[in-house]
Amino acid sequence: MHLDLTPAQLDIKTRAAQFAAEHVRPVAAQRDNTDLFPSDELKQLADMGFMGVNVSSQFGGLEAGVVAYSTAITEVGAADASVGVTMSVNNMVCEVLEQFGTEHQKKTFIPRITQGEYGGGSFCLSEPGSGSDAAGMLTRADFQDDHWIIHGTKSWITTGAHAGVFLVWAKAFHPDHEDGPITAFVVDPATPGISVGKAEEKMGQHGSNTVTLNFDHVKVPADSVLGHIGKGFRIAMMALDGGRIGVASLAVGIAREAIQQAATIINTTPALSQDATVVSKIGELYQELQAAQQMVFHAATLKEKKVARFTREASMAKVFATETASTITEELVALLGPMGVLKDTSLERLVRDARVTRIYEGTSEIQRVVIARDLLKELA
Ligand SMILES: Cc1cc2nc3c(=O)[nH]c(=O)nc-3n(C[C@H](O)[C@H](O)[C@H](O)COP(=O)(O)OP(=O)(O)OC[C@H]3O[C@@H](n4cnc5c(N)ncnc54)[C@H](O)[C@@H]3O)c2cc1C
Repeated sequence: MHLDLTPAQLDIKTRAAQFAAEHVRPVAAQRDNTDLFPSDELKQLADMGFMGVNVSSQFGGLEAGVVAYSTAITEVGAADASVGVTMSVNNMVCEVLEQFGTEHQKKTFIPRITQGEYGGGSFCLSEPGSGSDAAGMLTRADFQDDHWIIHGTKSWITTGAHAGVFLVWAKAFHPDHEDGPITAFVVDPATPGISVGKAEEKMGQHGSNTVTLNFDHVKVPADSVLGHIGKGFRIAMMALDGGRIGVASLAVGIAREAIQQAATIINTTPALSQDATVVSKIGELYQELQAAQQMVFHAATLKEKKVARFTREASMAKVFATETASTITEELVALLGPMGVLKDTSLERLVRDARVTRIYEGTSEIQRVVIARDLLKELA
């Protein structure tokens, strides 16, 4: 598919690229070494509207659509995947709140993210014993009198230590729903009973914050349900369809950055630039990058047009772009030999950052299952 960005989309992409070049890329290596959370950068990006690119201006968003959002994530993610993934999750949380939240939930919590009051919002689905199999969650919410009591543990939660809102999935036990259907809750992180574990030390994306959250009989108001009791699983899957476009856009950014880094080395090293094998490999990898970019834009366009389901396309874009980012970064290290593993270039960081994208918001194996199930239903 051919996609010409509109002037408005181009403006978002350009502003994201300029900000990334001036404020994000120059400190990416340092952040990788120190694991420092990018609070300042996220605040500045929020001030530019980039925490709600596809969110209504009423709540501090840009209303610029999904394609514009994708380009912004690619630009920021190319400069530093840690900032890119945090921005991606924040946008996802804002969109879910806008789509399913009550007026009170939207007005209270979306601006906390879009105005940069907090580092972001967290999507609390995974648990120590359930990730791919989200339905196997153990966290429960019991309705008592006029409130809910949430009890359980959520693991691997992005931005958990810096969030202004938690979207928490739990099995909700209510007199009208005794089977405990999966339900999403909007929870203020300052609520008593919530504790935040230590930041995980990951192989990549060191500047993104990943923590365990413990909910010890946390009392939240009756109106904390997001959407309706029992609709939580559907809300999570719809959110992840959009989230996967964000992760795929990030992966495109990482892969593009790696090719740019390699090109700089090759162009200044005659032995490499005159080596036909090296040059041919760059052509091959660039072709893969373009294919990934097309799949991401295709999924983003479908979501933006709201005329079609895009579950399959979002999963295909996610698995293809993230696997491609890994292939490209690793093959470039192989191609450049010792120069590829030096910290002077960011290639070795990009290899590590790319690998992480293949896990969250559904592993590659799970994306293939999602794609196949959707396809088999169509072909039945
Ligand atoms: C850096 C990072 C940030 C994260 N951020 C968040 C977050 O903000 N919120 C959140 O809720 N979660 C988050 N996660 C969790 C992430 O979504 C899960 O780790 C992921 O979904 C995999 O779940 P799991 O860890 O339980 O692994 P498992 O589901 O146990 O999977 C282990 C392996 O088995 C494979 N597998 C599992 N089931 C199948 C199957 N049916 N067919 C084929 N293969 C299968 C998987 O692909 C994987 O390779 C994050 C994870 C990481 C690493």
